[in-house]
Amino acid sequence: MSSIADNIGTVTRRIQKATLKSGRKANSVRLLAVSKKRPAEDLRTAFDAGQRAFGESYVQEALDKMEALADLDAIEWHFIGPIQSNKTRQIAEAFDWVHSVDRLKIAHRLDEQRDSALPPLNVCLQVNINNEASKSGCSLEDLTELADAIEEMPNLSLRGLMAIPDPDQPEAALRSSFRKLANALKKLRQEAPGSGPLDTLSMGMSDDLEMAIEEGSTWVRVGTALFGPR
Ligand SMILES: *Cc1c(COP(=O)(O)O)cnc(C)c1O
Repeated sequence: MSSIADNIGTVTRRIQKATLKSGRKANSVRLLAVSKKRPAEDLRTAFDAGQRAFGESYVQEALDKMEALADLDAIEWHFIGPIQSNKTRQIAEAFDWVHSVDRLKIAHRLDEQRDSALPPLNVCLQVNINNEASKSGCSLEDLTELADAIEEMPNLSLRGLMAIPDPDQPEAALRSSFRKLANALKKLRQEAPGSGPLDTLSMGMSDDLEMAIEEGSTWVRVGTALFGPR
């Protein structure tokens, strides 16, 4: 077995254990394999081991891999990087999910540029949960207004929230960041109930996925623990 296949097994067991421990339903947490800066062959190896969902952060790099892997049916592409407005067309045309929508202008462009013959683009709003100067993401205060606007966009389906908490904070602060995002989703379900399924919390990475699952994550985004250091 390849080490990538081994790693998928190990991470899947970590996810299952944390899901069970937190009293959540089996299979309520999915694994997003973060494959940025990895060659297409690594994604193919992971696909052959059963992995279907892949997360990419750079548009052109992702498009090249999509072309190289066009023969793989049922592969699912997620965009998780910062979004420049001149890249929205390619994202809207090629991806199934976008985890990193953080402003109205980007949501509008993705909606306009998504082919209405395709299923709606699944989007999460990225929240700058620790108000870090260097990070993308909207503030918690902006969420209701953004969700209300997305409700009017026929080609987007608002699935939930995403965050990349500051990894250097103490464990208790990290847990409270995850909890804040989970509470923000609950609040949004009450305040903007028609804006989309709102069933998704994209949080947790290689080093903190257990804690994220205990706090309600439904997608953990894992790169290093599957593919090794970048
Ligand atoms: C790179 C990246 C990850 C994966 O991080 P690892 O520490 O390698 O697991 C997750 N989410 C986002 C948004 C990323 O850019």
